[in-house]
Amino acid sequence: MSDKYYRNTVLDVNLKAIEKNYRAVQGINPEKTLIAVVKANAYGLGAKAVSEHLAEAGASFFAVATLDEAIDLRMHGIKQKILVLGTISPEHINKAIQHRIAVTAPNLEWLKEAKSEVNDRHDKAVWIHIKVNTGMNRYGTSDLREIETMINEINSFSRFIYEGIFSHFTSSDEDNDITAAEFNLFKDIVNQVERPEYVHISNSGGALTLKEDFTTAVRSGIALYGYYPSEYTKAETAVKLNPGVRLSTEITAVHHLEPGDSVSYGRKYTAKTKETVATLPIGYADGLLRQHNGYKVKLEGGADCEIVGTICMDALMIKVPEQTNAQEKVIIIDDQENSDQSMESYSNYTGTISYESLCSFGRRIPRRYTGKDIELIYNEVIN
Ligand SMILES: *Cc1c(COP(=O)(O)O)cnc(C)c1O
Repeated sequence: MSDKYYRNTVLDVNLKAIEKNYRAVQGINPEKTLIAVVKANAYGLGAKAVSEHLAEAGASFFAVATLDEAIDLRMHGIKQKILVLGTISPEHINKAIQHRIAVTAPNLEWLKEAKSEVNDRHDKAVWIHIKVNTGMNRYGTSDLREIETMINEINSFSRFIYEGIFSHFTSSDEDNDITAAEFNLFKDIVNQVERPEYVHISNSGGALTLKEDFTTAVRSGIALYGYYPSEYTKAETAVKLNPGVRLSTEITAVHHLEPGDSVSYGRKYTAKTKETVATLPIGYADGLLRQHNGYKVKLEGGADCEIVGTICMDALMIKVPEQTNAQEKVIIIDDQENSDQSMESYSNYTGTISYESLCSFGRRIPRRYTGKDIELIYNEVIN
């Protein structure tokens, strides 16, 4: 963890808010294990800091998408259970064994290959979660006979432990009957086979809205970071989430334009009257898309200011009141729920969702962790 950064564009990650969200999601199903999904660098917020904080707050189980992400967590001292949700290459099963990582078995063929690859370098057993396909058609199988055979294969091999069976909802953030149908298909399959310790299907959408006492665990990512999977989920749940992120910067330059003066590449924006524009040191290389042209950011404690002209790789210009000065603070995304600079407003503006906005924040933006006794900085650029 580097404490050095020399840039005034910063992503504040509120660890206290994330901890509160963790407790709120756990509170809906106190008897189930809450699997904290920290894939994709904890949705861009920093897997190490987020996982460490959640582990201190009591999280006992993490999930990631790839084996590399799981090993990275181990390298950073995360001792808790980690499940790789994606499919690892069978020949990498020994790496999972070495690092004590649970893996997903998507089908019988994968399982047999993985079994044939297990060597004696690390003489431990590996935890396996069988993936059931209930409609995603991404990973997993819905063939009952195949699942039975997989369970037999696992149980008859001393290096495999049958630890879990799970599926994934396609539409838990929408208002329809699909979720119930997928849940019933999963339940029907699981009821016909040996039941392992962890039975799980809900993501945040499911965890926030679905009442059921069949499973023993839920997986949640987006809700931990303080965002609802959709407006529907937000309306349906009683749980109050705390937005975990704030993106801010500082004005680096101010230019006073005469009528006819233009701004940025291609001179696409031209002043009609005397106008003032300010330059912000953030651009598309930081994850703020060129389509954000026209989006309004906020002067701290002041006016909403429109992004004008083509957004550059490292900078953009906004139209500001005449008396605006360099070094004034500007909020691009705030930590409010219903403001013009909320994560939802920022994402809706370019037709995307908070998941994608979070994952798009560039590695170049320092992450500043707030909400703890001491402020921590993670700057990947000069780490
Ligand atoms: C990403 C993912 C999750 C977490 O989804 P959220 O909507 O962020 O809670 C859960 N399960 C699987 C299989 C995933 O890929």
